[in-house]
Amino acid sequence: MAPKTKKKTAAKKQSASAKRKAQKLARKAKADKTGRGAGTDPKRVAAILAKLDDAYPDANCELRHENPFQLLISTILSAQCTDVRVNQVAETLYKKYPDAKAFAYATPSELEMEIRPTGFFRNKTKSVMGASKAILERFGGEVPRTMEEILTLPGVARKTGNVVLGTAYGITSGIVVDTHVLRLSERLDLTRNDDPKKVEQDLMQVIPREKWIQFSHQLIWHGRRVCHARKPKCTECNLESLCYSKDKTV
Ligand code: SF4
Repeated sequence: MAPKTKKKTAAKKQSASAKRKAQKLARKAKADKTGRGAGTDPKRVAAILAKLDDAYPDANCELRHENPFQLLISTILSAQCTDVRVNQVAETLYKKYPDAKAFAYATPSELEMEIRPTGFFRNKTKSVMGASKAILERFGGEVPRTMEEILTLPGVARKTGNVVLGTAYGITSGIVVDTHVLRLSERLDLTRNDDPKKVEQDLMQVIPREKWIQFSHQLIWHGRRVCHARKPKCTECNLESLCYSKDKTV
């Protein structure tokens, strides 16, 4: 047999064996479904993480920012809004308001109009100005680096705290649970809870700590690109052999 043909045959065998292994793990998880933590067998979780690494080796936060403060503001603005829209608004916003001081002393009615395209603009204006004031008065103009401190900022909950600490500072404080992470964690049977706080706790128990930041980015990317809420593109999903969600379309 020619060396090239040999190589191809070996690669085919390897991929067939990987597929069989994944299917076995999926079957095992399915069989365990009545029990507690059915989808969280460490081997299955490791297989999911490996597949996410294959599909999204460079997954990152899609909110454009030049510093932790801008990421904080953009994350506040991203509630119930797409990152694309937030990035559009942010482009002009950060030219006019370059730092916490500029936001803290903004004219509320002007700021409201400027962030209006992101929705919920009155509440968001209050949060953005309140957080900026607190950063200025209590943290010397710098976004704090601990979850405990960041949670004292108006309008900031754990999701925003995790985004900023993880992406801007590389600090592993928890797992970002947004709408995509919530939906995919349920579809992949990594949790049976639907409260984001509980889901985060469940994920923190089964995902190795060093993967927390990347795992959140990868699930968000997968949710945006493949595992859509209404019509998941299961035929294009590399997790398909491990997934036994009732929402599957294949
Ligand atoms: S197989 Fe379908 S439902 Fe399961 S993770 Fe992939 S896209 Fe989502």
